[in-house]
Amino acid sequence: METSVQKKIWLSSPHMGGTEQNYVQEAFETNWIAPLGPNVSGFESDIEEFIGNNVHVACLSSGTGAIHLALELLGVGLGDEVLCQSFTFAATANPITYLGAKPVFIDSERDTWNLSPELLEQAIKERIQAGKKPKAIMAVHLYGMPYKIDEVMAISEIYGIPVIEDSAEALGSMYKGRACGSFGDLAILSFNGNKIITTSGGGALLCKDEETKQKAVFLATQARDNAPHYQHSHIGYNYRMSNVLAGIGRGQMEVLSERVAARRDNYLFYRESLHGIQEIEFLEEPIGYHSNRWLSCILTPSFEVRENIRLALSQENIESRPLWKPMHLQPVFEDTIRYTNGVSEDLFNRGLCLPSGSNLEQEDLLRITNIIKNLLR
Ligand SMILES: *Cc1c(COP(=O)(O)O)cnc(C)c1O
Repeated sequence: METSVQKKIWLSSPHMGGTEQNYVQEAFETNWIAPLGPNVSGFESDIEEFIGNNVHVACLSSGTGAIHLALELLGVGLGDEVLCQSFTFAATANPITYLGAKPVFIDSERDTWNLSPELLEQAIKERIQAGKKPKAIMAVHLYGMPYKIDEVMAISEIYGIPVIEDSAEALGSMYKGRACGSFGDLAILSFNGNKIITTSGGGALLCKDEETKQKAVFLATQARDNAPHYQHSHIGYNYRMSNVLAGIGRGQMEVLSERVAARRDNYLFYRESLHGIQEIEFLEEPIGYHSNRWLSCILTPSFEVRENIRLALSQENIESRPLWKPMHLQPVFEDTIRYTNGVSEDLFNRGLCLPSGSNLEQEDLLRITNIIKNLLR
């Protein structure tokens, strides 16, 4: 039998629109090869316009750096506790430890796979009783699906604990017609290579007012005091975005809406095509929710079926990936406090992310679904 290696299909690969290089070229021609310049300001304005609701955006070198600054701006420090969605990528939780604080992990609910409001409130009550009122809530729109925003905001208000909205996977998602990234006291975006738009690496912090943004920029540029010499009264970071990379971001913003539409089409294709096969389940949008469908995910009946599909795809040169392994199950977070209900562990065991790039072609999608159908029939 003849075998030929088929074209590799990636889980989520960069998808340039075409105008990115014009902005990069401009940076070269004007010699703005620095972590500031017209592309950085322009990219920030583009994001502000897209998200609306008066957000003030600081572009940074990564989403992880943005989370670090958000925690610092909220005064999180040594020995503090931060409530954190357990079902997420490690970058949501890691910066909590950079500051000497501790994550308290909260499990998910079934409707959106995100932060369970019930467990969140239970945790707050118990931690307050233990004399450790949490300093912040890290909530995540995982895979682009908004979390239960009204419920989480209500809890945040009752107990006076600010929310950091991890919108790294949710640029272009909306809740009740309003853009994700505009809800938290602070919010963050990521432009890593696998995200819905990319600058190869990069992120942004979204603030409610200009003063907070300026504080973030101050911290992100080594916390230099206003003096002719280099003077510092605060520890700073080197977290600003390069003007060259911001040029890629400006080009990507021009095609963001198309990218969201293409990812949503992928999801619809999978759902149509795999509907009714061996109890494959999809995460539907509750009323009022609009997901950018960053990654299309399926739930299979069991861990074994999940693995069979993953390996069958891998054999045909197709990348897929189990859903995020919850933070409370990670060896590095073994000793943390957690409030669990088994939901995220179950999702991790049975769930698979299918290739979801906005650059997938119809024949790629057919190749993928045919393999799954043949396997499960
Ligand atoms: C990608 C991601 C981040 C981190 O962003 P980087 O730009 O890669 O540092 C944070 N949280 C979530 C949920 C992510 O998916």
